[in-house]
Amino acid sequence: MTLNRRDLLISGGAAAAAGGVAAVSPVSAQTPRVPAKWDHEADVVVIGAGATGFTAAIVAREAGSSVIVLEAEKHIGGHAITSGGNVPLGGGTSVQKKHGIEDSPDLLFRDLTDWSVVEPNGFPDYRYNDREIIRAFADNSVPTFEWLVAHGVIFVDKAPDGAGGNSVGNSVPREMHCAVMNWPMVQTGKPADPSIQATKSSGNGLIRPLEVAAKKAGVEILLEHRMTSIYRQSPNSGRVVGVAVDAKGSKLNIRARKAVIVATGGSTGNVNFRRMFDPRLTEEYCGLAGMPWSNQDASGELAGMAIGASLWGLYNQTGEFAYKITKAGAIGTQYGYVNLRWMPGSSVFDRARATGLHVNDWQDVILVNMLGNRFYDETGKQFTANDYKSIDPYTEGSYLNAKNIKYNPNNFINAALAGIGDAHNGGGPIWAIFDADAVTREKWNPTPPNVDVDAGFFFQADTLSDLAKKIVMKYQRLPMPSANLETTVVRYNSFVDSGIDEDFGKPKPLHKIVTPPFFAAWSTPVVHDTRAGLRINAKCQVMALNGQVIPGLYCGGESAGGFSQHGLARATYQGYVAGNTAAAESGRG
Ligand SMILES: Cc1cc2nc3c(=O)[nH]c(=O)nc-3n(C[C@H](O)[C@H](O)[C@H](O)COP(=O)(O)OP(=O)(O)OC[C@H]3O[C@@H](n4cnc5c(N)ncnc54)[C@H](O)[C@@H]3O)c2cc1C
Repeated sequence: MTLNRRDLLISGGAAAAAGGVAAVSPVSAQTPRVPAKWDHEADVVVIGAGATGFTAAIVAREAGSSVIVLEAEKHIGGHAITSGGNVPLGGGTSVQKKHGIEDSPDLLFRDLTDWSVVEPNGFPDYRYNDREIIRAFADNSVPTFEWLVAHGVIFVDKAPDGAGGNSVGNSVPREMHCAVMNWPMVQTGKPADPSIQATKSSGNGLIRPLEVAAKKAGVEILLEHRMTSIYRQSPNSGRVVGVAVDAKGSKLNIRARKAVIVATGGSTGNVNFRRMFDPRLTEEYCGLAGMPWSNQDASGELAGMAIGASLWGLYNQTGEFAYKITKAGAIGTQYGYVNLRWMPGSSVFDRARATGLHVNDWQDVILVNMLGNRFYDETGKQFTANDYKSIDPYTEGSYLNAKNIKYNPNNFINAALAGIGDAHNGGGPIWAIFDADAVTREKWNPTPPNVDVDAGFFFQADTLSDLAKKIVMKYQRLPMPSANLETTVVRYNSFVDSGIDEDFGKPKPLHKIVTPPFFAAWSTPVVHDTRAGLRINAKCQVMALNGQVIPGLYCGGESAGGFSQHGLARATYQGYVAGNTAAAESGRG
C-alpha cells in the first residue's frame, strides 16, 4: 500500500495513540482555511509552556507584544520542569568569569562545530551541527544566561562544570545548575529537603521562576489548549496568521497578529514520526523520558510541515551518540528513565502508576529479550556524548583527536533493539530477571507502587517456568518459552561458577539466580531526546522546503533541527531569540 502525505500525517497521531503514548488529535495535512472569526487574539502566540515557550513568551511580552501561551497539558513545564536543570550556557558568562574560566562565543562556536571530535564508538558528535544555528547559539549564550538570572532563576553557587549535560564542548566547563530552592517538585509534590535546596539541580528551579516572571509580565497562559493546526494565508505562501486549538473538546481559533512560535518540545513520542528516523523504534518503546508529565507528539512538526515547513538536521537524530535512546535505569515500570522517578505524591502518579526499582548493580539481574534469551553484557552502557575534557589531550580541529580515542563500541542499545530476528522492526520488550537474593542485595521492595503489576510491567512466580508463562502484556507479541528462560538461567549460573560469561563477556558474573520467588521487570530502552525538527535560521524563523522563510512562523527547542545538544541551553537560547525576533515583527495591524 502506498501512503500519501495526508495518510502519513494522520496515521502519525493514530499510531502514537496505539503505542501507549497520549492520544493525539490528528493534524490535518491540508492547510485549514483561515477562519472568518477569531475566538482570541494576541500579537504573539506561543505553543508550549516549557523551556523554549516560557523564555520566548516573557521576552516577547517585555518587548511590548501581547502574548498568549497555549499548553496542551493541565500543567505547565513540559520536559523542562522534569529535567535535571543542568544548563550549558557558556561563551563567557558572569559565572564563568567569576571563577576564572576563559570562554568566548568564538571558542563555543568552534567547540560545537569541531569536525574532529568523535565518540569512543567512532560516531561524530558535532560534525552535523548547522553552522548558522551554532553561531547564533554562541552569540546568544551569554545574554540568555544573564536574562535567566535577571528573571529569577537561581543557579547553584559554584564554578561551572561538566556534570549532567552532553554535547557541550570539550574546551572549558560550561554546565551550570538551576537550584531547586523551595519550589515543590513535580516528581514528588513536595519541596526538596531544606539542606539541599540551594545545591540540588532541578528543572523545577528553572521553570517555576519563569512561570512567576511570565505572569508578572502579563503573559496569558491557557492550559489544556492543544494546538491542532497552524493557519497560513494560503497553503504554500503568505504569512502565518494564527492557530486552531482543541480546548477540552471545544474548537477555538486564535489569531496571532505578529507571530506563532512552535515550542512543542519534539517528536519522539509519536511512533510513526520517530520511525522516519529509525524504523526500529516501534510501539514497545513506550516509556519516553519526561512522560507522563508531557509527551513529545510531533504536533508542532506536523502542523509546520502541513504549511510547507522543512525538517532539518536529520542525521543528529540517528547518530549513535548521547541520550536519544537510553538504557532503563529503573525497572518494573513503564517510565524507567534513570533520572526521573515518579513518587506517589506527584500529581501525575495516577498516570505513572509506579516508581520503579532503581538498579544499583547490574550484576544483580540478567536481561533477556521477548523469547527469554540474553543478548548483551548487562553492565554495558548506552551511547555517550562529548563533554568537557572527555577527549584529553584535545587539540581543536585536529584529526589526532579521533585517532587518539580509545575505540569502545557500546552496543547495548543496538543489541536491545535488534530483537529476535523476525520481521518485526522493533526489538520487543526487554525483561530484567532476578531472584529473591537479588531483592535482598538491592534492598528492593518489589510491590506496588514500586512496581507496576496491574499494567503488566512486572511479574513474579515461584518457578522460572511459571514466570515465563505469566509474562503476558500488550507489547509481548510472542509468549516467552519457559524452556528458553530456564536454559538461559542455568547457563548464566554456570558462568557464575566459572567466573566467565562465555556468551557476552559480562565482567565476572557474580550471582546465581536460584532462590524463589523469581521476578521479571520491564527494562526496555527509553526514548529520550529529539534532535531533529523543523528547519530554522539564526533568527529561529521556520524555513520552507524551498529554503524560504515562512513569514510569521518561529520554532525553538526540541522541535527545531540543526543543533545536536541535550536540552535546556538549546531551548532557552532559541526561546530568547524567537521571542525577540517575533516581537520585532511589524505584524498585520
Ligand atoms: C527527565 C529529563 C531530564 C532532563 N535533564 C536535562 C538537563 O539536566 N539538562 C538539559 O539541558 N536538558 C535536560 N533535559 C532535556 C530538556 O528538559 C529538554 O530538552 C527541554 O525541556 C526542551 O524544551 P522544549 O521547550 O523544546 O520542550 P518542553 O520543555 O518539553 O516543552 C514543550 C511543551 O509543549 C507542550 N505541547 C506539546 N505539543 C503541544 C500542542 N500541540 N499544543 C500545546 N502545547 C503543546 C508540552 O506539553 C510541553 O509542556 C531533560 C529531559 C528529561 C525528560
